[in-house]
Amino acid sequence: MWVQDYQCQLVPRMLRELRPDLRIGFFLHIPFPPVELFLQLPWRREVVEGLLGADLVGFHTPGGAANFRWLAHRLCGAGIDDGPIGLREAGGEVRHGGRTTHVGAFPISIDSAAFARRGADPATDARARELRTELGDPDTVLLGVDRLDYTKGIEVRLDAFGELLDTGRLDPASTVLVQVATPSRERVDAYRRTRERVERTVGRINGEHAGIGRPAVHYVHRSLPPDELAALYLAADVALVRPLRDGMNLVAKEYVATRPDDSGDLVLSEFTGAAEELTAARLVNPHDLDGVAAAIADAVDGAGSPDSRRRMAELSAQVAEHDVARWAQAFLAALG
Ligand code: UDP
Repeated sequence: MWVQDYQCQLVPRMLRELRPDLRIGFFLHIPFPPVELFLQLPWRREVVEGLLGADLVGFHTPGGAANFRWLAHRLCGAGIDDGPIGLREAGGEVRHGGRTTHVGAFPISIDSAAFARRGADPATDARARELRTELGDPDTVLLGVDRLDYTKGIEVRLDAFGELLDTGRLDPASTVLVQVATPSRERVDAYRRTRERVERTVGRINGEHAGIGRPAVHYVHRSLPPDELAALYLAADVALVRPLRDGMNLVAKEYVATRPDDSGDLVLSEFTGAAEELTAARLVNPHDLDGVAAAIADAVDGAGSPDSRRRMAELSAQVAEHDVARWAQAFLAALG
């Protein structure tokens, strides 16, 4: 059995009690918290014991796996090894209740070849050109694609773009930002408030910098189909992926995989799982507004430069090699 994600963290132990003979794997798709944060949970022990019902517990990053291993020791008195946790293998050991659970880092990925095929399709290219025309033929298109979630840092990204326009570092006549913010958990208050703040910021930036019929921020609050998203990835000179925290972030990988040449640029938050693999991106601390603004400006200035092409080539090779099939095979091989 391969159990997926945070809402099922108690399931491995329940399964183990019902069927001691099963081989059980678990994969966590969200980030595993720092230990001090996890220790605040009222049901911290239940969660760890739930996961210890598995034979193999997988995380996106070695750091997450190491945090879990330490917490198993602290909260459940499990015996642990303190060796390094490698990538795509059952590294660390946790011994508890007469059984051993392995932990490992298995960074998830995308169907890279499928994104590359869509990116190389002339229909996608034609739609990308059309989109640039619809955007008013700017010199530079910046793109953000996120669920409208407070962890995604959409407001900070908008603020950084607004500041670059305010200070004249970017010219709204030649640079536009497309922000796709797909609806998410709309009945939850915190999400409603995030939406209000994002939309107020979009309104302020456009109020101050847009021309008539020529917005500086093109804001889309709905989910786009894969073909349209691929065309946007092709149309964008720079992708801005700046969550405050994200287990992996697939959009970063999709942008890289879709582009057929080594053009484009990726500004990526260091607090995503993707940042541990996509080290050739322009990595930023999303809480550092000045640093983010500087990285965006550098990406705009450096578009098409040998340095940016070299980095995009490195990113493409990384994503092409480590696709989702490899993720699944590595996990199942380690479980086996
Ligand atoms: N996505 C989509 N349509 C949209 C926006 C996003 O299909 O309009 C998809 C996108 O292709 C990606 C996923 O939603 O596969 C978002 O995954 P990610 O890991 O970036 O963030 P999550 O939403 O899982 O936190």
